[in-house]
Amino acid sequence: MKFDVLVVGAGFSGSVTAQCLADAGYSVLVIDRREHIAGNAFDEPDRHGVLIHRYGPHIFHTNSDKVAQYLSRFTEWIPYEHRVLAEVNEELLPIPINQDTINRLYGLHLDEAGVAEYLESVRESRQPVRTSEDVVLNSVGRDLCDKFFRGYTKKQWGLDLSELAGNVAARIPVRTNRDDRYFSDKFQNMPKEGYTRMFERMLDHPNITVEVGIDFESMCDRVRRKHTVYTGPVDAYFKHCYGHLPYRSLHFEHEHLPGVRRHQPVGTVNYPNRHAYTRITEFKYLTAQEHSGTSIVREFPRAEGDPYYPIPRPDNEALYQRYKALADAEPDTTFVGRLAQYRYYNMDQVVAAALKAVEPLVEAAKGETVRG
Ligand SMILES: Cc1cc2nc3c(=O)[nH]c(=O)nc-3n(C[C@H](O)[C@H](O)[C@H](O)COP(=O)(O)OP(=O)(O)OC[C@H]3O[C@@H](n4cnc5c(N)ncnc54)[C@H](O)[C@@H]3O)c2cc1C
Repeated sequence: MKFDVLVVGAGFSGSVTAQCLADAGYSVLVIDRREHIAGNAFDEPDRHGVLIHRYGPHIFHTNSDKVAQYLSRFTEWIPYEHRVLAEVNEELLPIPINQDTINRLYGLHLDEAGVAEYLESVRESRQPVRTSEDVVLNSVGRDLCDKFFRGYTKKQWGLDLSELAGNVAARIPVRTNRDDRYFSDKFQNMPKEGYTRMFERMLDHPNITVEVGIDFESMCDRVRRKHTVYTGPVDAYFKHCYGHLPYRSLHFEHEHLPGVRRHQPVGTVNYPNRHAYTRITEFKYLTAQEHSGTSIVREFPRAEGDPYYPIPRPDNEALYQRYKALADAEPDTTFVGRLAQYRYYNMDQVVAAALKAVEPLVEAAKGETVRG
């Protein structure tokens, strides 16, 4: 087999690079070891016809016009602003923490300025702010930290907040107003016909061939090519020569509830303090689908299994940098994506990274320097 470029992985990073390279005139083979495209964003109707996300809820949000415009070539959108409640003291309270969270938890009637004052009075000033515990204590103090964050983090990462890099907790804002949206990005929409349909359109190009159910290992020597785009785990590419990069995995327990129109009041309910699972998501909120029943997923974090989340800790980052040095020394391979760059990327960040990663190849195509 002969192609200009072999793309390993048909998730966001692989599909975006493949589409851009195909547009630039390259012939591209995309392979994925899974039996489907779309990577972790894969969605499909379950046995009951409810559109579900097989690998857990994926909510699209971005502040990047470039990313939104790029994806809009392959999908229409439906508006969706995600809302999350956390079960604390047997009550369901808004998370991110906002005015209503504090008033309902402590039986107060504070306005915006009052909440800001309250948080100022309970926060524990930390210097320097290094870990996720520092971030949370520094902004909301110990009680809110223990009720909303500590148990959830322990379940999600298998680590105490104090063992996790600060940027993980910094992803979750704290609000003094009543805004109960989980994200505040200017673009918050879901692909109208789902992620998989969007990926199908992205990959539907005369210069792209897609093969699923195929591992890089088995294809590596069989495909003649000038360039490889690799979106799998970077440590696996180098045969774990420096040891394994740690990833957190998840087990997804999907369930259909026949005859139940709504299982819970919002898209996701977090369980920071109870149950082995971290959260339950009800898909009909995300997709606006009408159905007489409903489908939910419970997420059980675990150490073993598919690599889902790079674990943001300084020692892991140091190990990644050793692999990155090897990757940088491979001129004919581009490493991009959540696993190849060992980054806790959202979908829009992966799209942006992929658009950037292909720039040199697209430029080269203009000068016909790479294409045979
Ligand atoms: C539970 C969960 C919820 C998430 N929710 C959100 C959300 O709400 N919003 C958001 O913006 N982001 C979310 N994300 C992040 C999002 O999933 C990622 O940003 C995105 O999927 C990364 O795309 P990717 O192409 O880099 O990786 P992936 O989607 O993982 O794709 C990589 C692909 O490469 C394939 N592959 C790997 N190795 C090989 C090999 N050796 N040979 C062949 N194929 C290989 C894999 O099978 C996979 O399909 C979530 C992630 C998880 C795990």
